[in-house]
Amino acid sequence: MEEEKFKLSVSKVKTFDQCKKKYEYLYIVKIPRKEQIFHTFGKFAHKILEDFHNAYINGSVEPIGKEMTKAWKNALVEYEEKLTPELKKEAWDICNFYLKKIQKSGLPNVLSCEQSFEIYLKDNLILNGFIDRVEKDENGIYHVLDYKTSKSKSYLKDDYFQLITYAFVLLQNDPTIEKVRASYLMLRHKCELITVEFSKKEILEVRDKYIDIAEKILNEKQFEASVTKLCEFCEGSELCEKYKEKKLQTNTFKQIDW
Ligand code: SF4
Repeated sequence: MEEEKFKLSVSKVKTFDQCKKKYEYLYIVKIPRKEQIFHTFGKFAHKILEDFHNAYINGSVEPIGKEMTKAWKNALVEYEEKLTPELKKEAWDICNFYLKKIQKSGLPNVLSCEQSFEIYLKDNLILNGFIDRVEKDENGIYHVLDYKTSKSKSYLKDDYFQLITYAFVLLQNDPTIEKVRASYLMLRHKCELITVEFSKKEILEVRDKYIDIAEKILNEKQFEASVTKLCEFCEGSELCEKYKEKKLQTNTFKQIDW
């Protein structure tokens, strides 16, 4: 492994898994990132929920509607110009639904929002990132949550790598933990929770997984392009020869008129 520090995150690993060429563009060539509207929408929703829950972590006794209004207005200052009226309406609906849900279930016991972490896994290998939310549930179980604003749930099916990574982070902070609950909070799906639980044994295996992946990335030479339907959202699509070739072939066939 190289002498200098090598930082890994969930998104770096996912990018490498999805397409090695994309990884090369984003993390080695470091092409400029273009923010897509769905990223902006996601940041807006995250900001609202972060401010809302932070208010109660900091001791607010205000009603939930009042704190949500403050959080909404605060986030709008930053995102008003960047979002379409339709997306603002959709975000408003999510907040409204979220409040109704909390009215029924009560405020969750949130311990932190957007908690950053940086953990040495081995020598110069560092795992870093942010956890959207950490709670302690009624039965004393730690619960990590990740907010998702994607329209589709199917891509998350059986993909709990992100959540188990966050469980691993909690275990580093508190080695007495025996079990971690973890959820994707699907904001565009009526705030549905997709929840799993991880045992200490499962969580501890994460370190070796990252070490293996780091070795693979550092030894990668070819950075092959893997063309899929996700290519149209790729920041490197204008540079990617394989994608352009594939697109040209597809367009040619579309133009053929028997
Ligand atoms: S356009 Fe597709 S194949 Fe090319 S780098 Fe991006 S994700 Fe990979």
